[in-house]
Parts: sequence; structure tokens; C-alpha cells
Amino acid sequence: MTSPGGRRTAILTVDDDPGVSRAVARDLRRRYGEQHRIVRAESGATALDALREIKLRGELVAVILADYRMPEMNGIEFLEQAMDIHPGARRILLTAYADTSAAIDAINVVDLDHYLLKPWDPPEEKLYPVVDSLLETWLQSDHRPVPETRMVGHRWSARSSAVREFLARNQVPYRWYSSDEPEGERLLAAAGADLHRLPVVITPDGEALIEPTDAELAGHVGLATAPAKDFYDLIVIGGGPAGLGAALYGASEGLRTVLVERTATGGQAGQSSRIENYLGFPDGVSGAQLTDRARRQAAKFGAEVLTTRDVVGLDIKGSARSVRFADGTAIDAHAVILATGVSYRTLEAPGVDELTGAGVYYGSALTEAAACANQDIFIVGGANSAGQAAVYLAKAARSVTILVRGGSLERSMSYYLIQQLAAIPNISVRVCTEVVGAEGDGHLEKLTLRDNQTGQTETVDASALFVFIGAAPLTGWLDGVVARDGRGFVLTGPDLVAAGDGKLPGGWELDRPPYHLEASVPGVFVAGDARAESAKRVASAVGEGAMAVMLVHRYLEKL
Ligand SMILES: Cc1cc2nc3c(=O)[nH]c(=O)nc-3n(C[C@H](O)[C@H](O)[C@H](O)COP(=O)(O)OP(=O)(O)OC[C@H]3O[C@@H](n4cnc5c(N)ncnc54)[C@H](O)[C@@H]3O)c2cc1C
Repeated sequence: MTSPGGRRTAILTVDDDPGVSRAVARDLRRRYGEQHRIVRAESGATALDALREIKLRGELVAVILADYRMPEMNGIEFLEQAMDIHPGARRILLTAYADTSAAIDAINVVDLDHYLLKPWDPPEEKLYPVVDSLLETWLQSDHRPVPETRMVGHRWSARSSAVREFLARNQVPYRWYSSDEPEGERLLAAAGADLHRLPVVITPDGEALIEPTDAELAGHVGLATAPAKDFYDLIVIGGGPAGLGAALYGASEGLRTVLVERTATGGQAGQSSRIENYLGFPDGVSGAQLTDRARRQAAKFGAEVLTTRDVVGLDIKGSARSVRFADGTAIDAHAVILATGVSYRTLEAPGVDELTGAGVYYGSALTEAAACANQDIFIVGGANSAGQAAVYLAKAARSVTILVRGGSLERSMSYYLIQQLAAIPNISVRVCTEVVGAEGDGHLEKLTLRDNQTGQTETVDASALFVFIGAAPLTGWLDGVVARDGRGFVLTGPDLVAAGDGKLPGGWELDRPPYHLEASVPGVFVAGDARAESAKRVASAVGEGAMAVMLVHRYLEKL
């Protein structure tokens, strides 16, 4: 087979047992030999040589199958190096039952796509379905050479920081140039831009976007922003774990499903450096990795995913539910799942607003980490998100100080994280402390801290402040449409009835009460953090997304 770019594609298999190696290659050749070049190797080193040769010839590798137990270099070590040569190739590890836990480790280490237990007989049942699906995924996206998007910005430019965050969260590879380094200056000159209009993003085909909006960027980096239809079975609003879960289950169960996301898929979880308590990932998983997998999985089942589309209204038009966008256009569906989660609360202290993006950051710990090397930085907040950011940033920063308003972390942070923090020497925790001021010339330089027990204040040097002080649902746009609690969380099922002192919500016309995750309007469901009384965890958000789809089916059956 030739790839869309006209180049031949290879499938490579490596196993140190010549008999097994030949058998895998034979089975692969039988099914894929006409379309693909099957390359066989009997050690990690020779397989790496083969991969380099393929690269030099300008050919592509679609799938790599590696045996786990190989002397000298095991399958995981091999795949780690193979990824550097052909990052787009999908990866399968062949393991014996006894090595299952090593294979699970590999899911994180080498972003493994699949592990296949030996023996793989009959291949029609065990091998081919896996390779078929990985080839399909590869064809859809990964055959593309990594395009080089370049970005010129400045560390203290708030929009530069936001664009970096946007590209990173959408997993768009880019190269960063500071506007005060020679190559940055050359690129700015070539683009006809100046220092006052940063950032400039240069797309792989050479187009320069000066101070681009998120929507402009999305359009240029291949993210869908316009719906393909005007009527769907299901519209999911919000692309965090709950929304991705709902889109995946909706599409996989045959519903015409579209997911609409305001910025980038992943939501809060997408910004987490390491989620340690999500089932099936004993060594933790980064939010970016989990998001990438979920998005690919949802797309595989046919869910449409739109990014940079802000939903600003929900209208009830008979049996149709109409979702309005900020630009005035709308799409309709039989049912809607609200999965809009929560957004960071802003820190109210003089100077903070002006320095946001220039030393003060909300939840953007990941993209700013490199800039914190050898610096003294502060984190405000006592919940898990703050703890995770501290662990992550402490690898680069000279010191990380966590500022907590309460008297201890115990009530707000998981025990495992408190233990981790205690074991890292350059992390310290200051309890009973609040930020009451921020100052600096063009970027953050100093913070004023107040001890809320004694009232004493102190001014400290600070290079960066990361704010994780809880979050609120931004559901004002649902005013007058669905019932919410006093803090803006959307009420569903039994909570709606309880809030109405046992009565069904006003305007409810059906003779059944609202289903468990159903809002005060039939056919509108809520999943994840936006729902009143929800658990505020990745696992529960994903679970509620799946459960909401089950209730959508129940609703549609009776429509
Ligand atoms: C840094 C960090 C670390 C965390 N670590 C963990 C952890 O280790 N374990 C754990 O279990 N939980 C963790 N959490 C909590 C977990 O991430 C959340 O509970 C989970 O993401 C909630 O998922 P959700 O889909 O309901 O909402 P969110 O993740 O908040 O996603 C909502 C999405 O909806 C979009 N949206 C909002 N309004 C609109 C609109 N009007 N139009 C279009 N789109 C809209 C938002 O842009 C967002 O992408 C962490 C949270 C943070 C911030």
C-alpha cells in the first residue's frame, strides 16, 4: 500500500525467537502483504537499524509489533527508541500472560496502543482486528509528517502564553522562538510583524498569523470548527472527561453525535500533569495523554468534535433542543448533554489581573514549567490540582511554595499527594497564608502575603504564581432554561425534586419524574462537574457521560 503522500508503508515486527518472528511475519504477510511491506527483525538493535533505513528512504511505518522479552533490549526499551524515529507508527507489544503488568506499564512509558497476549491464534480473531484498527487510526491521522508550526512570542506577553497553552492542549507540535532572540527577530521581520503585536504563529505552509484568535488557529492546524450537519441525535456541550465519555458512548451506540468545545478538549483533566487515581493506569497518566486517547476513540466511533465554539444559549423548540453559538448560528438535536464542568475562580488581589499571563497563571502549569527553571515560584491553593502542579514544577524550579488559606492540607488534598509533597525537598507549604498583592514591571516580581491568623504581611520575591483556588460552573447562559442551585450547578433527577420540596420542577409536562441525570427540561442531561452534587473526579465524570447516554436512549425511546 502507498500512503496518501504516495510513499510505501511498512509494518515491522521484531521477536528474538526466530520461529515466532517468522510466524508473526507470515500471518501479517498473509493479510497485509499485498498492501504493505512486512519487515521482520530478530533483535531490537537490528529492528532499529531497519527503522532508520526506512526513514532515510522517505518511507513510513504504520504499525510496529515488538516482543516484550528480548535479551539486551526489551520490547518497551525498543519501542521507546522506535518512537523517536517513527513517532506516528502505532505500537503493539507481544507479551506472555506472566508479563501483563509490564505491558500495562508500557501504556504510559511508550504510549502503547495495544498489548497482545501470545499465542495470537487464530489471527483472524486476535491479531487482525487489532492491526486493522490501528492501521485505520494511522491512516486517519498519524501518517502525516509532524508539521512544524513556529511561534514567536514573549514570555511576558499574556496572549503568547494563552496561544502556547492552546496549541499544547490541542496537541499541536510547535517550535517556540522568543521575540528577543535572533531567529525570533528574523521571523518577525519576515512576517512584517512588530514587537507590539505578539504572538505571531507561522503555519507549516508558511502563512503568518499575527495575534491570531483561537478560532483562526484551530482552522489552520486542522481542528474542526464547523458542524457537518444541522440536526443531530445528540449534542454534547463541553469536551472534558464527561463530554468525551458521552460523545464516545453516544457515537459508539449509533447516535449521530456532535461534541462542542469552547477551547480545547480535555477540560480540567487535560491540564493535569499526572492523574494517579484513574482506573486502569496504576502508574498514573498525564491529562494530555488521556485526552488524546479519548478524542481518538470518540472520533473512531464517528463522533464529530468541534473546538473553539462557545455555546451561549439553549432553546427548547418543541421536541428539538437548539444549541446557539456565540456567532449567532445554531444546531439542533433530539437531546443535549451538558458537560461544561467548572472554570477556575480568579484570585482577587490588587495587581493580579494586570499580571495575568505575565507571571500569574491559572492552571497553565505545564506549558510554563520550562520557564520556571531555577526560579522561586508560588502556588495558591490546597486541593489536588495545586499539589500535582507543585510536584510537576518542582522538577525545574529552585523552590516551590504552596500557599494555603486553611490551617492544613489534610482536609483538601489526597493523602497520597501530601506524602509526595513531603518527600520533595524544594517544596514547602505555608498554611494560613493569603496573597494580598502582586507587583512587577511588565511581569510578576513580588507578592505580598498575609498571615490570616496574625494579620502580618510580608513581601517576597516571586517569578511566577500559579493559581488553583477552586472553580465555579459558568452556567449563566442557562438562566431561565434549566434549574440550578445557588452556586450555579445544574440540578438533576432526585435533587430537582428535593429542591422543589418533593414537587416536580415547574413546567415539567411529563408524567414521569426526571431521570437521574436529567435537568428540569426533558431531554437535557448533565454529566460531570457541572452537575449539582457531582463527585468532581475524572472517573465519575467519564462514568456520568456514559450513563447520560444510556438515559438519552431511554428518553428517545419514549419520544
Ligand atoms: C489540574 C487538575 C488536576 C486534577 N487532577 C485530578 C486527578 O488526579 N484525579 C481526578 O479524579 N480528578 C482530577 N481533577 C478533577 C477532574 O479533572 C475534573 O473532575 C474533571 O475534569 C471534570 O470533568 P468534566 O468533563 O465534568 O468538566 P471539565 O473537565 O471542567 O470540562 C468541561 C469542558 O467544557 C468546556 N465548556 C464549558 N462551557 C462551555 C460552553 N459554554 N461551550 C462550550 N464548551 C464549554 C470547557 O472549556 C471544558 O473543556 C483535576 C483537576 C485539575 C484542574
